[in-house]
Amino acid sequence: MRIYLNGSWIDSAGATVSVEDRGFLFADGIYEVLRFYGGRLFLADPHLKRMQRGLEAIRIDPATARDLLDIGERLIDENGFRADDGIIYAQITRGAAPRRHAFPDPGTPATLYVTAKAHPQPPPASFADGVAAITLPDTRWGRCDIKSIALLPNVLANQAAHEAGAFEAVFVRDGVLIEGSHSNLMGVVDGVLVTYPECNYILGGITRRFVLDVARELDIPVREGPLFADRIDRIQELFLTGTTTEVMPITRLDDRAIGGGRPGAVARRLQQAYREAASGRAPAMARTGMDSPRRPR
Ligand code: PMP
Repeated sequence: MRIYLNGSWIDSAGATVSVEDRGFLFADGIYEVLRFYGGRLFLADPHLKRMQRGLEAIRIDPATARDLLDIGERLIDENGFRADDGIIYAQITRGAAPRRHAFPDPGTPATLYVTAKAHPQPPPASFADGVAAITLPDTRWGRCDIKSIALLPNVLANQAAHEAGAFEAVFVRDGVLIEGSHSNLMGVVDGVLVTYPECNYILGGITRRFVLDVARELDIPVREGPLFADRIDRIQELFLTGTTTEVMPITRLDDRAIGGGRPGAVARRLQQAYREAASGRAPAMARTGMDSPRRPR
């Protein structure tokens, strides 16, 4: 596999990063995941913007990500993925320097690592039939809007889900279902699509924003607000959104069936709209620019 690392195009087998890299020592960096469908990047600009906002938030020069989309395109070519569906993974860290908590000396180059790979789709059956999820307390930090590579709580939560035979773990904060370990969460209550508002407690998902835009286009009422963990009986549908997860119905949450154990009509319509846009049959909505600034509360 051909990868990009700090200006070089090399085989992944020969790629190395310093043991002093601050990503390794401190998880001092951020990452981004983009999809390509049929060799074409999907919703690329909002992903790039989010990465640049993340870099600003952690005080790495946002210009580090300037060439990300060109790098992604070249990796799709170099790996022969022009007809395939897959994923671009990009990671930027504060570079390699002797270990100390404060930033390294000015001029220390950031580390930029980008790969392309074909994406092992979740089995189509799970898109059609839905998946199980579990709930767990949210033990993460107060800046979940930054796509930090420090993912230990997410890793532990997702592992707990796997061990429970579930696809995803949904974090609960102050009695509210807020998002998954690697996906956003949406529900339908009284016919209204409800999802946690964009703020510092969740990652502002590119797919979340896209799906909300599509829902409004389809005249599905939308409310950015809480889904209460103790009112699951009122939830008619639940689904996850994410770059790798797409639109994934949840039909079981802990020991309760959701929507009678079947994916609901809203999830199905949004899945279909997502597929059409991803395959290029419908234009991806332009309003996913995510221009509005997000401020920690
Ligand atoms: N929340 C978390 C915690 C995530 O890790 C992800 C996926 N990276 C998402 C939400 C979904 O974001 P996106 O739609 O941009 O992939």
